[in-house]
Amino acid sequence: MVFEGLAEKLQNTFKKLKGKGKLTEKDVTEAMREVKMALLEADVNFKVVKDFVNRVKERAVGGDVLESLTPGQQVVKIVNDELTALMGGTQSKMTFASKPPTIVMLVGLQGAGKTTTTGKLAGLLKKQGKRPLLIAGDIYRPAAIKQLQVVGSQVDVPVFTMGDKLSPIDIAKAGIEHGVKHGNDIILIDTAGRLHIDEQLMDELIGIKKTVKPHEILLVVDSMTGQDAVNVAEHFNEKLGIDGVILTKLDGDTRGGAALSVRSVTNKPIKFVGMGEKLTDLEPFYPDRMASRILGMGDVLSLIEKAQTTYDAKKAKELENKIKSQQFTFEDFLDQIEQMKNMGPISQILDMLPGAAGKQLKGLQVDDKEIAHIQAIIQSMTREERQNPSIINGSRRKRIAMGSGTNVQQVNRLLKQFEQTRKMMKQFADMSSNKKGSKFKM
Ligand code: GDP
Repeated sequence: MVFEGLAEKLQNTFKKLKGKGKLTEKDVTEAMREVKMALLEADVNFKVVKDFVNRVKERAVGGDVLESLTPGQQVVKIVNDELTALMGGTQSKMTFASKPPTIVMLVGLQGAGKTTTTGKLAGLLKKQGKRPLLIAGDIYRPAAIKQLQVVGSQVDVPVFTMGDKLSPIDIAKAGIEHGVKHGNDIILIDTAGRLHIDEQLMDELIGIKKTVKPHEILLVVDSMTGQDAVNVAEHFNEKLGIDGVILTKLDGDTRGGAALSVRSVTNKPIKFVGMGEKLTDLEPFYPDRMASRILGMGDVLSLIEKAQTTYDAKKAKELENKIKSQQFTFEDFLDQIEQMKNMGPISQILDMLPGAAGKQLKGLQVDDKEIAHIQAIIQSMTREERQNPSIINGSRRKRIAMGSGTNVQQVNRLLKQFEQTRKMMKQFADMSSNKKGSKFKM
């Protein structure tokens, strides 16, 4: 996942820091040197790194931090605050027109993911109860119009096109009229991209901007391109003026430098992030949650939101009751696996859990292949065995292994993991009903 290298380095640095009872200024300086290296290796803009480290150092050695009872944790908190601030502080939402339709221009270089993202955003807005319309304004790239029509139909949002013979300005104007007539309350214009920034492209975009007066211009940039993405953002912002950035491909093994630098270099917020190729893989960007994720404090809120969009509320309530009364069975487990699979690859989900919990589960090596084995094992159990695993003796274990094409060791392991999971879930359930005494520690 994004920030993997950075997260690991920072967490190691802070583990050392937290391990010390008392901190000196020298300890902080040494830790900040490591933070600086880690950020630079993650391809964060040099100047951004320098300012960041200075700010943290100033706050950490000033005040009462070093004298406090938990100096290490205080320093981590400062880093967390500053990382959050670096990415914009609070979530930047999209601007909607007070009198619909809201007009949004999506701009960006070719290959950044603009067309896909336009479809994703339309899908997200539709889920929020809006009535979007897409306008196909990229008349140069062969098949761009067709591609938009395909993503539009996948998210069930209409696409306005006039082919590739008219000027994008005329198409945009006609598209907006069409949207107004048909009661669309938000209109997304997909514009042309180029391989590189060129004047002609900018002029065309400026022309569209002047004509349609968009409420929001969103720039789509590819996070895999690192500092180039930041330069592109700076350039578009200077020439055209943008309102926000959508950072795509954050699911890949990008080092994350763009995500950490873009806001501070352009002073424009990241509003959404693309987390995969599927049309549901677009998420609002929350600086605080991203910072927690980097520092291994987990992103439990995003995980819960993700779960909420894929989970059936009634089932979730039933499950909660079962967990509390410890009636959670292998059948529920199987059900959970199915639902988890709907949420995406297991590794992505584990990445959102707080450091220790995520690592512990990762240690169990629950990868997607393993999940298939687990499913097969549970499916080879009788109903009675699923309800009451304690009856699964030696000969039953052998039978289950045979039936599922696994071996007895794998069956044993699953039975053990199931018991552990059951215990852990009970703890979580108890913890959430006893909010005051939260056991979560940094
Ligand atoms: P455009 O030229 O800017 O319109 O780019 P496209 O929308 O055609 O996207 C280029 C490629 O990037 C396609 O293969 C997309 O599936 C892929 N892509 C877009 N967004 C994401 C993302 O968030 N994650 C991943 N992994 N791939 C993405």
